[in-house]
Amino acid sequence: MAKQDDDFRKVISHAKEYGYVFQSSEIYDGLSAVYDYAQNGAELKKNIRDYWWSAMVQLNENIVGIDAAIFMHPTTWKASGHVDAFNDPLIDNKDSKKRYRADVLVEDYVAKIEAKIEKEVVKAAKRFGDAFDKEQFLSTNQRVVEYQEQAKTILERLGKSLEKEDLADVKKLIEELDIACPMSGSKNWTEVKQFNLMFGTKLGASADSAMDLYLRPETAQGIFVNFLNVQKTGRMKIPFGIAQTGKAFRNEIVARQFIFRMREFEQMEMQFFIKPGTQQEWYEKWKETRMKWHLSLGMGSENYRFHDHQKLAHYADAAADIEFRFPFGFKELEGIHSRTDFDLGSHEKYSGKKLQYFDPETRESYVPYVIETSIGLDRMFLSVFSNALQEEELENGTFRTVLRLPAVLAPTKAAVFPLVKKDGLPEIARNIIDDLKWDFNVLYDEKDAVGRRYRRQDANGTPFCITVDHQTVEDHTVTIRHRDSMEQKRVDISELRGIIHAEVDMKTWLQRMYDVSEN
Ligand code: ATP
Repeated sequence: MAKQDDDFRKVISHAKEYGYVFQSSEIYDGLSAVYDYAQNGAELKKNIRDYWWSAMVQLNENIVGIDAAIFMHPTTWKASGHVDAFNDPLIDNKDSKKRYRADVLVEDYVAKIEAKIEKEVVKAAKRFGDAFDKEQFLSTNQRVVEYQEQAKTILERLGKSLEKEDLADVKKLIEELDIACPMSGSKNWTEVKQFNLMFGTKLGASADSAMDLYLRPETAQGIFVNFLNVQKTGRMKIPFGIAQTGKAFRNEIVARQFIFRMREFEQMEMQFFIKPGTQQEWYEKWKETRMKWHLSLGMGSENYRFHDHQKLAHYADAAADIEFRFPFGFKELEGIHSRTDFDLGSHEKYSGKKLQYFDPETRESYVPYVIETSIGLDRMFLSVFSNALQEEELENGTFRTVLRLPAVLAPTKAAVFPLVKKDGLPEIARNIIDDLKWDFNVLYDEKDAVGRRYRRQDANGTPFCITVDHQTVEDHTVTIRHRDSMEQKRVDISELRGIIHAEVDMKTWLQRMYDVSEN
């Protein structure tokens, strides 16, 4: 735990020190769970958004993108169920006065049991060596089987109690498990209460005519209310999808964990409209497709897993999370939900307008079913950034901090250095920048010894450093150094564009989605 905390602290301070993420309104001591993306962070975030948009919209003929407003008619949130059901169960500790999500306290308890299982697996793998069969071990080792049973029973009970809104039983469960406040160790809990997560605001000048609005808690509803507009104007045929990225707002009860859980965040969502009855097949397909998108970034398949939901949201008939191994353990990164016809059906009811698809082949009209893929851009940012940050021991015993961002996402693709600030070298370096800047984000740096400049760019996540030296003046060659291998090659200036392009080109990265499927 201590190491995890330490690793996470390093991620947060590195994000600040290298201009990725700042606390919002820091000069006023910040605003809780609100963050600003700095000069490098804004680029990384944009690159992640583009990577998602290309994979979802550009590469799929039957998916189009929209950009709906944050403000929506208030009835939207009645229809979507958010006014009545977008609640989290909260519990306060009477001694520490700290507030928690009751379900998260129980889930964290279960995560500890899961950690014990993982520990047993690692121990056994060491003991049995090559002969180790994980599946067999999980199903036969007495202690591990008991742990698994325990975890399952707890989660099932939590799921059932939440579904029935039996908050007294959630409290009873917390007491039975002897869960203490992580801050104070106290077990003196209040009752569990429901808390609505939507932020309210007002539209209009005078108090009488003002209309109560909400800041959208998800981008999905902007897609549903536009379903027929897009279908008709785009002449879309089912199955088809509508994608969008944009801000969402939630008054989260517990908002620690940096950009993992924010009160203002960005989502990347896609709603895929299908024929009723085909949802199982499309749900599986999108689970698989989204996992491939993640794997294409090469951040290690061992860092992802699916988690199928026990407790389903009011709109879903199946739901799974793609979880990522964050510095504080496996947590939800993306959700894939089979939303049935809940949203369109409900908007039909509340608006009195038909939201149906006319199938030109069968000549029937129906309310389509929907599969949703929903990922938080900020969480994706955290997964990429935390996974990339590494402390590496070099051959000479010294250490370097390197941010191994997937090159396609790196904010700056190359840094260009003149070896010294004279003899015409800065001018050549500037010329190289002027040439490359049309294709890539590149930067110029002439301060400090070249070794220090390399370290700075390693920590910044820049895939390439290009150094102009005296030989360049004679033969038009430079050295290009690779961030990850630290290998240096002497190449002609005319080759630079091709070398950088081969490494950062989005097409090459996205094609890995399809390679993964063939393995
Ligand atoms: P959680 O259980 O962590 O609260 P959720 O299940 O409520 O998340 P969804 O409503 O499915 O989340 O939202 C889809 C995605 O939006 C999540 O997978 C996550 O990546 C992102 N997300 C949700 N809430 C936040 C938040 N407060 N801050 C940052 N990202 C968020």
